[in-house]
Amino acid sequence: MRTLIVSDIHSNIVALDAVIEAAEEEGPLDGLWCLGDFVGYGPAPMECLERLWEREVIGICGNHDAASVGRIDTRDFNPIAAEANRWTGEQLTDAARGYLEDLPLQRVEDQFTLVHGSPRDPIWEYVFGYPQAIEAWERVETSDVLVGHSHFQFSCEAGRGLEQPGPDGLIAPLGIARLLINPGSVGQPRDRDPRAAFAIYDDEARTVHLRRAWYDIAATQRAMAGHGLPEPLISRLSAGR
Ligand code: ZN
Repeated sequence: MRTLIVSDIHSNIVALDAVIEAAEEEGPLDGLWCLGDFVGYGPAPMECLERLWEREVIGICGNHDAASVGRIDTRDFNPIAAEANRWTGEQLTDAARGYLEDLPLQRVEDQFTLVHGSPRDPIWEYVFGYPQAIEAWERVETSDVLVGHSHFQFSCEAGRGLEQPGPDGLIAPLGIARLLINPGSVGQPRDRDPRAAFAIYDDEARTVHLRRAWYDIAATQRAMAGHGLPEPLISRLSAGR
């Protein structure tokens, strides 16, 4: 069974489609997990949700998802993020609102706990380093943890520390030591690699493969400009930061 793991799609349908296509080039997908921030920032919130629903996504709630339906206040967002979030809220159908309102903050799939921020603070905490990974492992029943939110792609292995993928990705072996993995951001990478980030969990090979895929960044930028979304959110996609 191959499961596509994505996070921080942020309404970037061109990037999401490129990721699905890249993942399927190697074989069929049996599942799709999203670690939150389906929407916010980008130009196509409904298209992203519909694509993920078609694929029977298993999802958890991110801070942008929560804010777009009023589960949390955008006062804690920077002004540009808040503006994009208001626009996002206006695009959502009733079905989308209901879906985002009901998304759980945390769930368990196989040997993984899925959470957007951290087990301590599922909505807001950024896990950037090894000490936080240790705290995360202490708070969950599963051996491994999947997080999003920081838009940085990495794997933390107990006893070894944090490792960032090279240009060709990184294969993390399961079942040897506890892992905390961030698949990176599909729609707005911030680790200076503008390619869309994702991961493939293979339960027979017992691996999580951290990967990247090119997408048509200019197409997303044109769509954002067409909707009058804030310019800094458009230009940052080219730099991956
Ligand atoms: Zn995000």
